[in-house]
Amino acid sequence: MNVAVQALPAMLSRLKLTALRDQLDSLLDEASRQELNLREALAFLCQAEIARKDQRRIAMGTSIAKFPCVRTLQDFEFQAQPSVDPKQIRELALGRWIASGDSLLLQGPPGVGKTHLAIALGREAIQRGYSVLFSTAVSLVAVLAKAQTEGRLEERLTQYAKPKLLIVDELGYLPLEKNAAHLFFQLVSRRYGRGAMLLTTNRSIEEWGEVFGDTVLATAILDRLLHHSHVITIHGESYRLREKRRSGLMKKAPEEGKKQ
Ligand code: ADP
Ligand code: MG
Repeated sequence: MNVAVQALPAMLSRLKLTALRDQLDSLLDEASRQELNLREALAFLCQAEIARKDQRRIAMGTSIAKFPCVRTLQDFEFQAQPSVDPKQIRELALGRWIASGDSLLLQGPPGVGKTHLAIALGREAIQRGYSVLFSTAVSLVAVLAKAQTEGRLEERLTQYAKPKLLIVDELGYLPLEKNAAHLFFQLVSRRYGRGAMLLTTNRSIEEWGEVFGDTVLATAILDRLLHHSHVITIHGESYRLREKRRSGLMKKAPEEGKKQ
């Protein structure tokens, strides 16, 4: 065997072309089976390597994002949620709002798919090359409060300011005490104009004074969040309850049809 051919696996390793190194025989067989010319074969090999690199980047980005579960746009039943415009969601999935550091607020009662859409949009963002971090509001604030007592708040804030998209789930489920609300404000200020935020909340914007226990602070937070923002309000009943009702496990709720 020609020396260069013998050194092929080592050369591919050195060039970090791991897909080519690991699948060289089958890729070359396939290229010859398809009777590709040299240029076509090179393109075919490049495609294989890029596919592997994309796959690894997405897997890595997804694990860094710390999503609580897998939810995708493909699994989201738009017919079940008429107050969500599929065109708007598909447009948001392209990620331009992330590139420009805007905010996205998903509002609505429990069970209507806010977390599902937040995770699905986060996954889409990763596919498009954005770094993403997911956290619930409660655990985010707990991490910041702990860092504060350890004298490492600055470090943590910097860390939370890094991802291109920060997803904060379940804002408003629990009211934040004064220090927690102030820490959240510091985080929003830190990211303002730098990185996009996606927030889900069961509270309307008018109720944020209660969520943060302070209307001045709530106004300051909203001022930053709503400056360049997209707000999606989801109405309707819980998807899970609807499914149960459909399968006959529950009777129709008497208040069904009333606005929540
Ligand atoms: P929320 O965050 O608004 O309380 P979730 O996103 O957690 O609601 O939704 C509750 C459950 O119902 C999840 O398992 C979610 O995947 C599912 N779900 C909600 N809406 C839809 C939908 N339109 N299509 C498919 N699954 C949905
Ligand atoms: Mg949720």
